[in-house]
Amino acid sequence: MTEKEKTAGEQLAEQLCYAPKTVFEAIAAGDLKTDTVSPVDWKKEIHHFCEEYKTFLDAGKTEREVVKEAVKLAKAAGFAEYVRGGSYRPGDKLYAVNREKGIFLFVLGRRPLSEGINLTAAHIDSPRIDLKVRPLYEDSGLCFLKTHYYGGVKKYQWTAMPLALHGVVCLKNGEKVTVTVGEEEGDPVFCITDLLPHLGREQEAKPLREAIVAEKMNVLVGSEPFEDEKVSEKLKLRVLSLLHEKYGMTEYDFLSADLSFVPVYRARDIGFDRSMIGAYGHDDRVCAYTALRSILEVESPERTCLCALVDREEIGSDGVTGMQSNFMYNLIDSLCEMEGVSSHGIFAESRCLSADVAAAFDPNYADAYDKRNASLLGCGVAVIKYTGSGGKYNTSDAGAEYMAEVRDILDGAGVIWQTGSMGRVDLGGGGTVAKYIANHDIDTVDVGVPVLSMHSPFEVVSKGDVYMTYRAFCAFNAR
Ligand code: MN
Ligand code: MN
Repeated sequence: MTEKEKTAGEQLAEQLCYAPKTVFEAIAAGDLKTDTVSPVDWKKEIHHFCEEYKTFLDAGKTEREVVKEAVKLAKAAGFAEYVRGGSYRPGDKLYAVNREKGIFLFVLGRRPLSEGINLTAAHIDSPRIDLKVRPLYEDSGLCFLKTHYYGGVKKYQWTAMPLALHGVVCLKNGEKVTVTVGEEEGDPVFCITDLLPHLGREQEAKPLREAIVAEKMNVLVGSEPFEDEKVSEKLKLRVLSLLHEKYGMTEYDFLSADLSFVPVYRARDIGFDRSMIGAYGHDDRVCAYTALRSILEVESPERTCLCALVDREEIGSDGVTGMQSNFMYNLIDSLCEMEGVSSHGIFAESRCLSADVAAAFDPNYADAYDKRNASLLGCGVAVIKYTGSGGKYNTSDAGAEYMAEVRDILDGAGVIWQTGSMGRVDLGGGGTVAKYIANHDIDTVDVGVPVLSMHSPFEVVSKGDVYMTYRAFCAFNAR
């Protein structure tokens, strides 16, 4: 329809009202911009990008594995490991790794650091089932590992499904061994058993939160005895003998290990139209991957661009590898030393996109959301002014000026984006790393991919949103 055929009211509504569009509607309407002269087949581009994302997801199910993958991709893109005190020039591409669990990638800008940096931050840990420090025991002919769940999990979702074991063990002899069992075709897998429904009347009458008890989330790992009449715990010894054979570890080495159970399955397309991806760990590897891809493509930027991929967000961002650690700030300090400037003052000139997934509106649980403020699957990257809970507790709540700045950046680059919120007020809530960064005097707002079934072992995202989140980071880094 041409402008002339629209009524005055239609034209005014177009001018005054705001409503998000889906990525695929925007493609059909020709809204997406391109830097190249030749037209881009956007759908093909989106699906191609998401195939690479799926490969990344399958290779990185723990923060350590994500760091390994990120280092591999960074090296291939010409990044080198940062050496404190080294001499670097604008345009140099560098990375620093924090204890194998976090990685900070940066490209030095043409302008001095004192003019501020562009920071994108995402987390690479996901909810999972960790081993306790003394996990191994046997009971009634079965051998188990005791666990402690990590992050906000709905416990019932983790029973009666195949689990893989991932992690590292630091042996008494000083060696460090990597453990991955359950990912290769033909590998054994593990599981947490559940009660049969025939005997489940009492369990089913309990609130969901109490039906599965944390101390009963023991993972089944064996049932075959070690053949020696003199041994009292034969099942346990059999499992230990196998672990010793393969990894050189003893029971004592469990206490110097980071071992976790994660879902076995790989990332898969969802739907007849393959428009979505189902996988373990979209939260927050979908933002980590898109932020990573964006920083890897930064060439000779105006301002220094820094991409922080951190650990521990799911348990409060505490500790040496969390966003509350000084690691990143020490790194920025050392970059400032190189330029002979003080890091005081550069933060106020900096800006940050805190990249974390958003709660997508789920029509099956409509009353948990404010439908008019929830992000919708497929409507592009979500920009979330505030998260938190109750009366806006535990959030940095981005200011009007910064929201306007981010809107300009996204609109200017033709990024399809939408707003989002944490859900119905007073129902619950949650936070991200945004407030920890904002506390350092850096303007910060949350952006990210809307997710269905967040924190479940099989989360769902829309491919269009994944791609738009990547484009948002590219536009941000280019400023
Ligand atoms: Mn998250
Ligand atoms: Mn989370």
